[in-house]
Amino acid sequence: MKILVINSGSSSLKFQVIDSDSEQVLARGVCERIGIDGVFTYKTGTGISRKEPVSMKDHTEAVHVLLDRLVDPEEGVLEDYSQIDVVGHRLVHGGEKFTGSVVITKEVIDAMKECNDLAPLHNPANLVGVDACRRLMPDTLMVGVFDTAFNQTMEPKAFLYGIPYRYYEKYKVRRYGFHGISHKYVSQRAAEFLNQDIRHVKTIVCHLGNGASICAVKYGQVVDNSMGFTPLEGLVMGTRSGDVDPGVLEFLAKKEHLDFGQLMKILNQESGVLGISKNLSSDFRELKDAQIKYNDKASLARDIFAYKVAKYIGSFTAAMNGVDNIVFTAGVGENDSDMREEICEYLGFLGIRIDEVKNRGQAEAVRISTRDSRVNVLVIRTNEELEIAREAAAVCREYREGLSGSGKAS
Ligand code: ADP
Repeated sequence: MKILVINSGSSSLKFQVIDSDSEQVLARGVCERIGIDGVFTYKTGTGISRKEPVSMKDHTEAVHVLLDRLVDPEEGVLEDYSQIDVVGHRLVHGGEKFTGSVVITKEVIDAMKECNDLAPLHNPANLVGVDACRRLMPDTLMVGVFDTAFNQTMEPKAFLYGIPYRYYEKYKVRRYGFHGISHKYVSQRAAEFLNQDIRHVKTIVCHLGNGASICAVKYGQVVDNSMGFTPLEGLVMGTRSGDVDPGVLEFLAKKEHLDFGQLMKILNQESGVLGISKNLSSDFRELKDAQIKYNDKASLARDIFAYKVAKYIGSFTAAMNGVDNIVFTAGVGENDSDMREEICEYLGFLGIRIDEVKNRGQAEAVRISTRDSRVNVLVIRTNEELEIAREAAAVCREYREGLSGSGKAS
C-alpha cells in the first residue's frame, strides 16, 4: 500500500510517501511559508534533493504543488494520484472522543472542531490540511491519527486535576498528554529491539525535543504523561516553562501589570531553557557550547532540564511500581549524550548503569546501559511518520474488509 502522510501546521505542511509493505520512504518534503513567499523542499529515495521557491497562497495550493511533484515524469515517485491508497493525517487533539485512528468523516471533522478550543494553534491548521487533500483527492480514503489517542488509557486518578470535578464535567478539563504517536512508536520499537513482549514490560519514554514529554507505558498502555491539558505542563522545555505554581501567575500579573494573554506568551515562548539562560538560546546544542565556555546560566538551564527529567522518571517508576526500559528519543534525547549521562546519574538508585562508549554512539536503536544494569536504557530514533503510515494502512485494511462484507467496517 502507498500512504501519503501529511502533517499540516499553520504555515507549513510536511509530507512523506511511504510504501507500507517495505516501510520505505519513497519521497518526503516540506511546503514552508505557505501564504507568504513559499519554499518547497523535496527529496526522494532515489537521491533527488530540491529546495526551491514555489508560490503557495494557501494549503490547497501547497497540496497541489506536492502532488504535482509526486507524479512528475522526471522527479516523481508515482504515475498517478490514484496510486495513493490512503492519506494519513497527523491530528493533534482528539479530546476524549478518539482512542484510536479513524477514517475521517464529516462527524470526525465536527468532533475535531469541538476540540479547537483545546488546541487553538494546532487543530484548525490540521483541518486545513485535511480539507486541502479532500478537495484534490476526493476519492481517496483519509485517516486521522491523533497525538492524544494513545494517552487515552490513563485512569482518572492520573488524568484528573485537583480542582472542582464540575470543570471536568462541564468542559473536560483534564490531562490529555501529547506526543502519543511518538510514545507509541518508541515504546513498541524498544520492546521489539529487546525481543520483549510489550504486554509484559514497563517502559518510560523520554521524548526530549523542543517540546518535551515523558510517558509511562505499562504493558503497552499509557499510565501517565507529563504533558497535561495543554502541551505546556511537565518538563522545562526549549521555550515552555513546564510545571509552575499557578500562584506565580497571580503574583506576576499584579507586579508587572500583565493580562492572561501576556502571561501565557511568557510561559509558552519566553520561558524554559531560553528564559533560564537569560535568552541565550532554546537550542540545547548552543547551550552546550556556551556551557563549555563557562556560561553559568547555560549550565543552570541544562542542569534544571536534567533534574526535571530525572524527577519525572522517578515518579513514573512509582506510578508503574517499577520500570524495565527507559528510552530516550527526539532531538535532545537522540543526540545529546552528555544530557543522557547527566539524567542517568540521578538514577543509580534504580540500579541503572550506563556504558559510556555506547552512550556516545549513533544508531537507529541502541542499548546504552551495561549488561549488569537493572534497567535497560535505550536511545531510539522516533519515526512519527512511519507510525502514522502503519495506523493509516491498518485502518484502510479494516475499511476495505468492511466494504467487502467481512463485517469489520468502522
Ligand atoms: P521539535 O520536533 O519539538 O521541534 P526536535 O525533536 O527536532 O524538536 O528537537 C530539537 C532540539 O534538539 C533542538 O532544540 C536541539 O537543541 C536539539 N538537538 C538536535 N541535535 C542535537 C545535538 N546534536 N546535541 C544536542 N541537542 C541537539
